[in-house]
Amino acid sequence: MDEQRLGDVIDDHCIKCRRVTNHSIVSLVDDHAAKVRCRTCYHDHDYRHEQAPPSKKELKRMELEAQAALAAGEQVESPLGEEVSVPAEVMAELKSKSGHA
Ligand SMILES: [Zn+2]
Repeated sequence: MDEQRLGDVIDDHCIKCRRVTNHSIVSLVDDHAAKVRCRTCYHDHDYRHEQAPPSKKELKRMELEAQAALAAGEQVESPLGEEVSVPAEVMAELKSKSGHA
């Protein structure tokens, strides 16, 4: 177990430098780095475990998935043909309720 302390220098991904750089720990939660400061550009940010933030493409995909989940859960009245994943049985039920019978 390597205990982390304030001021310790650790590697992390800096979004400003867009690469892994040296960071100082500026905030600890449960003895783990919570916030760090880039030693290159002095930008403070949450410790991200050396992970690059999701790309715009990934963000877009997550947004679409969230929208689909919302559509499936709450507003099931989305028109057919739209790119939302509404379960077939829900659609069938909707049709039978509001259908042209
Ligand atoms: Zn930086």
